[in-house]
Amino acid sequence: MKKSDIVARVNYGTLLVDVQEHNRIIFADAGFYAITGYTLQDVEKQQLCFQDLFVKEDFPIYAKELRAILAVQDTAYLEHRLQRKDGSVTYVFCFGKQRQDENGKLIGEITLTDISHIKRLQAKFNETEMELEALIQNLPGSVSIVEIKETAMHLLHATEDYFRQFGYTREEYMETSNGGILGKLFYPQDLPILNQHIAAIARGEKTIFMQVRVIRKDQSLMWVDVRGQFLRIQNGNPLFYLATFDITKAKQRDEELRLQTERYQLIAEHTDELFYDYDVKHDTLNLPQNFLPVRQGKIPAVIPGYLERSIPKKVVHPEDYPRFLRELMSCLTEEKKTSIEVRMRMPGAEDYEWYRLVCVCSANEQGEIVRLFGRQTSVDNLRRLKKTVSEDKRIIERLSTTDPVTGLLNRVAFKERSALYLEEADTNACYAFVYSDFNDFSYVNDNFGYDSGNTMLYEFGSIISSSPATVFGSRINSDYFLCLLKTDTRDELERLVRERDALFVRRQRKKYPASEIQVATGISFIDPRHFEVTEEMDNANLARRKAKTGKDDLCCIYYEALRTARAREKAIAAELHGAIASRTVELFLQPKFMMDDLRIIGAEALVRWRNPDGTYRMPSEFIDILEKVGYIVELDFFMYEEVLRSLRHWQDNGMPLVPISVNFSRLHNNYPNFVDRVIGLAKKYQIDSRYIEVEVTESAFASDAQQMERNMCRLREVGFSIDIDDFGKGYSSLSLLMGSPIDVVKVDKAFVDSIELSEKHREYIKRMCMLIQATEKEIVFEGVENRKQADFLCACGFKKAQGWLLDKAVPVSVFEQKYVGNPLR
Ligand code: C2E
Ligand code: MG
Ligand code: MG
Repeated sequence: MKKSDIVARVNYGTLLVDVQEHNRIIFADAGFYAITGYTLQDVEKQQLCFQDLFVKEDFPIYAKELRAILAVQDTAYLEHRLQRKDGSVTYVFCFGKQRQDENGKLIGEITLTDISHIKRLQAKFNETEMELEALIQNLPGSVSIVEIKETAMHLLHATEDYFRQFGYTREEYMETSNGGILGKLFYPQDLPILNQHIAAIARGEKTIFMQVRVIRKDQSLMWVDVRGQFLRIQNGNPLFYLATFDITKAKQRDEELRLQTERYQLIAEHTDELFYDYDVKHDTLNLPQNFLPVRQGKIPAVIPGYLERSIPKKVVHPEDYPRFLRELMSCLTEEKKTSIEVRMRMPGAEDYEWYRLVCVCSANEQGEIVRLFGRQTSVDNLRRLKKTVSEDKRIIERLSTTDPVTGLLNRVAFKERSALYLEEADTNACYAFVYSDFNDFSYVNDNFGYDSGNTMLYEFGSIISSSPATVFGSRINSDYFLCLLKTDTRDELERLVRERDALFVRRQRKKYPASEIQVATGISFIDPRHFEVTEEMDNANLARRKAKTGKDDLCCIYYEALRTARAREKAIAAELHGAIASRTVELFLQPKFMMDDLRIIGAEALVRWRNPDGTYRMPSEFIDILEKVGYIVELDFFMYEEVLRSLRHWQDNGMPLVPISVNFSRLHNNYPNFVDRVIGLAKKYQIDSRYIEVEVTESAFASDAQQMERNMCRLREVGFSIDIDDFGKGYSSLSLLMGSPIDVVKVDKAFVDSIELSEKHREYIKRMCMLIQATEKEIVFEGVENRKQADFLCACGFKKAQGWLLDKAVPVSVFEQKYVGNPLR
């Protein structure tokens, strides 16, 4: 139902007046014109004021009444007469309220309802209800008469339309509403409105104006606008005449509009989006009311002469303008959807910002483009974000490919880039991977701190980077450097590498005169026609390792034999599991004895690896390799279990037990369950821990002293004894012995060997051993091969030894026979 429909039936209209200018009419709707007979032209031309419409003598009364009311509230209902354009007089009741417009101007909003027919009604029929009802039946529309009884409003008479609009027959309505009590059909939430009116009527109020929801017969909600006017008093109760209009649709529209506006505002406030449309024929750009510059009054919502006045030129960035115009023109000639990004300066903005304009053209039946609908989105943030993202990407890439200490590439990036680079290699040039590391790097780190160490790494990095031969340089980790070099000849390349290393060493030695800094470098030349990057890098590393074993010449060029050695290493690592399973790895025992009477005091477990031909591979051939790959851990536990099995066997067969020492690699420190495993296995075989000595080398303490000490302490607590192996071989430190959980010190064979060299050596050994003794450790000499050595050591007071003087390591069965004695039966 359109508003005009309602107006036609009930004659009500709205007008806005300028309160400060004699209530000059600034707006009026169709309802107003219908009631008064005036036209829009009349209002505009005559600058019609609201009071001009009054019957002359009525106005002063009206004005006085209104003033009185407005003094206490800002809305008012008043009934008065208006003079229509044709001179006839009509009764209206008018509802007015005052408000301020956006500019702070005081506006009066007046709703007029033509009540002439009520007046006629009042005049004609002031008598009986019957007559009233008869009259009412003849009235058009939904009209009713109600009686206000105490706190309720009772329906006395109503037109058929009145009932019909709620979907009821008269009888149904009366029944449902409990004999015509109005509020019975109201939506419960709106009841207070009705009650307010009833209360107001009790205070003498003569009009009713309410918009409430009523529940229809089909249970749907219906918005009604109820306007009422006092008729007379009957039986001491006021009677009111009511006109009721269905305003559901209007309300829904209002509600939709409100929601839409709210939504739009939400969008407008929280996004940078602007929806617009351009009316091609009228060259008018329409902007939404909610667009901020429009709301702020900076620009009008309707911009006529959009192209004619070259508005876009003022807004779009000059550099982007030609592109913008081209796109716009193409939109005006072809029905399409398009999107363009341009810089624009919005009204009130200081700077240009990037916007994306999306536009859809709409054509009429003749195919002419009549309207462009579009959306404008700020993409400035997006663009900025894109920029920062790409910057971030660069930074991340740099971080993920670069070594932070030296600025060289890291391993992954180096490998990737080298592989790519070498694909395009020049077959006439000479290329090589060059792998280097420092000797004695820990000297600087330990004595001068990490920063000095880092400076040193940085300096080597700089030398690498500044070499003309360097294609890519990288730091693999700690002090390992790998570079790809390119020169004309191999000789030149080798020369440059040697010069480079020498320069570095010179500089560092100047800085750290007490150090023995050296660079060990391996070079692997690459045949650009036939190579595999990983393999070549590996070869350079093999050569570096070889170089490290050298004394003076610390630069080694890769040769094939290095790889064969490496292949052997790999094979050994690969074979170990099988060898353990098939027991080709065997436990040998070497006795420990008293040198004076050659009495057995224990044994050391030593591994032997049986070849198919019955010969044995010695530990020196595989222990280092297994240590390197970590398999040593498995081997050690295998040996330990073999020892436990032997002890168990001896015990079960009533043979006397001797303590056996088992070698445990320093790698066990990396396993948190090491100690539990050692203890657990001893329990499994029910072997008293005093028959097991755990042999560890000094270097095991060097790698992670704290962990090592914790482990050894726990083992000692449960009765294992701890032997320190090869004492004096590495960087012996007597201080290590002081507080450490060690029971036995095994002095390295090198000392024993030196006994026969000179008196000085003998003196040295004697003093050293006395110092060890002072720390209350037992001393066992390793590798005592002859009587002379034994005699000297015995003379000094040290009697325990292990060595060929008594026996080499022998298979368990042999050891059993020779040293454990015959089983008791
Ligand atoms: P080590 O623990 O210091 O063992 C002593 C080494 O000296 C043994 O060499 C032994 O055969 C040798 N030896 C003993 N007396 C003499 C002698 O009078 N003259 C000479 N020339 N040598 C003597 P082996 O068995 O070759 O073991 C070498 C190293 O291998 C061991 O040194 C030990 O560090 C390691 N090793 C052996 N078995 C194992 C094992 O099961 N686990 C671990 N982690 N290492 C083991
Ligand atoms: Mg040992
Ligand atoms: Mg040893």
